[in-house]
Amino acid sequence: DVELRKVFKVFNGDTVVRGVDLSIRRGEFFSILGPSGCGKTTTLRLIAGFETPSAGDVLIRGQSMLNVPPYRRPANTVFQNYALFSHLTVWENVAFGLRIKKCRKSETQERVKEALKLVKMDGFANRFPAQLSGGQQQRVALARALINRPTVVLLDEPLGALDLKLRKEMQVELSNLHQELGVTFVLVTHDQEEALSLSDRIAVMVEGKVEQIGTPSQIYDRPQTPFVADFIGDTN
Ligand code: ATP
Repeated sequence: DVELRKVFKVFNGDTVVRGVDLSIRRGEFFSILGPSGCGKTTTLRLIAGFETPSAGDVLIRGQSMLNVPPYRRPANTVFQNYALFSHLTVWENVAFGLRIKKCRKSETQERVKEALKLVKMDGFANRFPAQLSGGQQQRVALARALINRPTVVLLDEPLGALDLKLRKEMQVELSNLHQELGVTFVLVTHDQEEALSLSDRIAVMVEGKVEQIGTPSQIYDRPQTPFVADFIGDTN
């Protein structure tokens, strides 16, 4: 569904993504796991189109995305800091994500309603972000990303700002949502447990390279490099 072919990204002479090859399957819950600064957010931004590769190609559903701007890609991003507009209500924030600007009013209404229902926020349409808890704000950010019914949902540390208890709850919700929607989820996280519990497959990244790709049990039971063994071992 999403393919990276020998992708490199250089910032000011500094190579932060070094020849990454990934093949993410349709409907898969795929995680990119690694320590701070390993290039995982940059990799996600390359898929979203917020960054262009210095070399290599990014494909979604078999089509090269190199000349396709972010808003035309069938992928939507949920950011760690939610990026909600504080002066807009929940309803307006979600509607803002709609790409078809000339959407009929009835269609907009229907889509916002559907997205809010998916994240169990239908009772909160008229509130402002400041009147919501962190978990609720995260749900609104998810709804905004889902309103265009993307085929790929990109999640950049979406639960990073939440406390541990809420984080666990939202992990379950994220997993349910993935099952319900049946679309491809690509999650960026530095949390080993989160990746191990949610993913169909995980790519472990270090210093701009993918060290190992595998199912949670392959990564956990058969780490292929000392780095992966150490990094995953940290959960114990
Ligand atoms: P974290 O979990 O801390 O967000 P990460 O693994 O997601 O880390 P990236 O955000 O992809 O890592 O950053 C990788 C490296 O690229 C870092 O050294 C960062 O400083 C650098 N970098 C990222 N974006 C830019 C940019 N726009 N300009 C210059 N350097 C950048």
